[in-house]
Amino acid sequence: MSGTPRSCAIVGAGLTGLVSAWRLARAGWHVTVFERWPGPGGLVALFEVGGERLECFYHHIFTTDTDYVALAGELGLASEIEWLPSRMGIYSQGRLWDFGTPASLLAFRPMPWPDKVRFALSTLYLRHRSGLAEFEKVTAREWLLAHAGRKAFDTVWGPLLEQKFAERADVVSMAWLWQKIYLRGRSRSSSGLGERLGYMRGSFGRLVDALVDRLREAGVAIEFATPVKRVRPAGGGLEVETRKGAGQFDRVLFTAAPEELDRVAGDHLPADYRAALQGIEHANALCAVLELDRSLSPYYWLNVADPGSPFGGVIEHTNYIPAARYGGRTVVYLSKYLLDDHPLWRAPDSAVWASHLPHLAKVAPAFDESWITARHVFRAAFAQPIVPCHYSRMVPPFATPLPGLHHACMAQIYPEDRGQNYAVRSANRAAATLIQAG
Ligand SMILES: Cc1cc2nc3c(=O)[nH]c(=O)nc-3n(C[C@H](O)[C@H](O)[C@H](O)COP(=O)(O)OP(=O)(O)OC[C@H]3O[C@@H](n4cnc5c(N)ncnc54)[C@H](O)[C@@H]3O)c2cc1C
Repeated sequence: MSGTPRSCAIVGAGLTGLVSAWRLARAGWHVTVFERWPGPGGLVALFEVGGERLECFYHHIFTTDTDYVALAGELGLASEIEWLPSRMGIYSQGRLWDFGTPASLLAFRPMPWPDKVRFALSTLYLRHRSGLAEFEKVTAREWLLAHAGRKAFDTVWGPLLEQKFAERADVVSMAWLWQKIYLRGRSRSSSGLGERLGYMRGSFGRLVDALVDRLREAGVAIEFATPVKRVRPAGGGLEVETRKGAGQFDRVLFTAAPEELDRVAGDHLPADYRAALQGIEHANALCAVLELDRSLSPYYWLNVADPGSPFGGVIEHTNYIPAARYGGRTVVYLSKYLLDDHPLWRAPDSAVWASHLPHLAKVAPAFDESWITARHVFRAAFAQPIVPCHYSRMVPPFATPLPGLHHACMAQIYPEDRGQNYAVRSANRAAATLIQAG
């Protein structure tokens, strides 16, 4: 480790950027964080309902999210995480069903008996099987059709994959689904209480705020509303250009998507590396959020397994966190992932409601638009990396070919699915590697 303090520009004030900035600043580095948006948090963006903040995109953590919990402990927030039960359902064949427990599977009529057995056995297999190689060579679709069967695929898995990966669902590797089921199994057993999900009292934004406070105390400059336009080699280090001018740094840690890195530094990267960055696809997230004067369903998490539905999940946050905290309002997220060319991605909010509300009335037949007290539409680009077979060969490396430029982003999280826990883990590793190398 070098004894000379280093300077580092961090691009992005999401969790990855903020945590790495804090670790580097504590090791004596001079750190500047550049963020495109006016505030911190990245995908942990917030809005307010009834005077309480909550996430624009529904968030919870699992008991296996130990890196996040450890960081919350360091920041004095561990006791603010509540571990609460949640209820899961599925909308299938025109009605709601309990889902996610053995008893609910028994009662789930859209799947006949022999298919239930195959569904249960294949899920158990996935829950207990460790080994990436077996699953990353095959698409989720192929594996599920072969092992869980056509009925289970059409009724449960197919709609779930489509909800998450839109038109790219068929290319997604089984490694992605296997890790989800494997980790979820461990989350259930490690709590000893069945499925409990974690939420931070007052929103996950509290941890973001605590990080920003620590960064300011440590003298880190945070430049909000300052997108980085270019990173280029200069003067033996790297020059970072923003609307405010250019600054010189020893290192740059870029925490946004590969495509963004290519846009900002591509002129100084080799063609094959650029092609690899451009080859990593993402789905965008579109969350339509309703504030209602009453509850919509008994479920926190409701998968909508209906091919005609414009949204894939109905997440009633206030069936998990009490509505009393939000001035008594019910908060419902209608979740959709979509690709750039989907008409709703750039459509006005009115078009989103025109497509979503009639379908919501199908899922919850009692629903009436007069229940709505407020509505919001939130969009995030690069929200979900799309993970095809053999993605381990595509994961962008931490060190880029441009000396001093490093990359730590969601597209490197594999085979786990992206999440706050992995942003923290990736930031911890990034900072440790930079500090070690000096
Ligand atoms: C719909 C949805 C639901 C989710 N649910 C959960 C959940 O339940 N539990 C959970 O743990 N996680 C969840 N996540 C994931 C979680 O929010 C992310 O994994 C995590 O916040 C990623 O942090 P990050 O810092 O790596 O990336 P980001 O949050 O994307 O941060 C990257 C930052 O870089 C900035 N940036 C990009 N380009 C530039 C540039 N040129 N110059 C300056 N700044 C730039 C961006 O504005 C952004 O702020 C969810 C995400 C979505 C979209």
